Amino acid sequence: MERTLIGSLKEHLNETVTVQGWLQTLRDQKNMQFLILRDRTGLVQIAHYRPANPELGNLISALGTESALTISGKVVENPVVKLGGLEIQLENLKVESPAEAPLPFDPFDKDNIPAIDFRMDWRYLDLRREQNLLLFKVQTLLEHAMREYWLKQDFIEIHSPKITGSPSESGAELFEVQYFERKAYLAQSPQFYKQMAMSAGFEKVFEIGPVFRADPSFTSRHMTEFTGLDVEISWIDSHEDVMVFTEGWLQYAYQRVKDVYGAEIEREFGVDIQVPALPFPRMTMSKAYSILKDMGYKLPPERKGDLDPGGERAIADYAKKEYGSDFLFVIDWPISVRPFYHMRHPDAPELTRSFDLIAGGLEIATGAQREHRLEILKAQALEKGLGLENIQYYLDFFRFGTPPHGGFGMGLSRLLMVLLNLPNIRESVYLFRGPNRLQP
Ligand code: ATP
Repeated sequence: MERTLIGSLKEHLNETVTVQGWLQTLRDQKNMQFLILRDRTGLVQIAHYRPANPELGNLISALGTESALTISGKVVENPVVKLGGLEIQLENLKVESPAEAPLPFDPFDKDNIPAIDFRMDWRYLDLRREQNLLLFKVQTLLEHAMREYWLKQDFIEIHSPKITGSPSESGAELFEVQYFERKAYLAQSPQFYKQMAMSAGFEKVFEIGPVFRADPSFTSRHMTEFTGLDVEISWIDSHEDVMVFTEGWLQYAYQRVKDVYGAEIEREFGVDIQVPALPFPRMTMSKAYSILKDMGYKLPPERKGDLDPGGERAIADYAKKEYGSDFLFVIDWPISVRPFYHMRHPDAPELTRSFDLIAGGLEIATGAQREHRLEILKAQALEKGLGLENIQYYLDFFRFGTPPHGGFGMGLSRLLMVLLNLPNIRESVYLFRGPNRLQP
């Protein structure tokens, strides 16, 4: 059997074809039955004249919407049909898998889309919506475009282990797993391993992989497992080089997405993709802090030196107004809110050569130049109260010649949230994992 995709039916006028897909709608009239069939390329109307085959007519009447069907029939022009002016005159129908009735919800009733928590129980039905299909096409292209950019610039891809033997930075966000007779941990970041690639002489690496955080928060932007986009680059002068890479790479990926899916995104998400202009504005953390203070914004005292989500939004609004940019690098964060391996400013040791990238009011990436000088790195770890034994394997990476380097980590689903203007990270991930969500 040769399958014809619905999107290419126009090329098969007056031919008998076989199409396969889901029964989106059934209009069951006295003599005529109309089935709307959907595959990943579109919708088509299939007409059946019941008196011609009453047995088949009864089978069709009993079909639940969303049943998976194989249908063959002749493609004919019919100007009154809204779906492309053609229809298929049904000859054969095979029910591959019937759908139970009623459905938990109708994915195609745009006015009655249930809340995300309910839809997550039936994610595979939720994903049948065109909007979601598009989202994952966009994600596929986005990752592809990022890889194109990396490969053009001679980056090497790594796959670092996700099971690790000792907590890396702090134990707070680590999932512990039983590993034969001992304890192991799920990697909360590929950080140390991508730095190892710098010591290995790879010079420029990237990884797209899972990241685990035992963070018991219930926000619209946190998951316990997410896909990280990670980059590390050698022979940099400072974090500025990392930012220059980041903005060029993002601009390229945005442009590719706009070129291929701009119109569909506008239709499905109501978003007109704006390819960001370069360079993205940079603002020091201390300037951000004083702007927020002048705006009367109250930063929670426990996050002194850090930005809370409201602060990120407020400073993003400011950047939009002042610089016309949806992207903002907030740079030079105090060491108090940065990990021990961030390099400090030579002339302001209380500050790090680091940045957060805020996009559409949301933090989407953190980056920095890393400390590559072993003695300083050790001193910084001790200052943060870390036991050197636990990170000895990491410190060893710096013993036999390590270039100056830096990089960033970005959350793929956060980027998609921003790109498609989604209110919740649960909408932008294939399957959400959170403190209360381990299934499906
Ligand atoms: P936040 O302050 O939002 O909790 P973070 O400072 O812990 O994030 P990093 O450890 O710097 O984040 O991770 C780098 C990037 O990974 C973040 O900018 C974000 O895009 C993504 N990220 C981090 N934690 C999560 C999470 N729990 N769920 C989804 N994405 C995340």
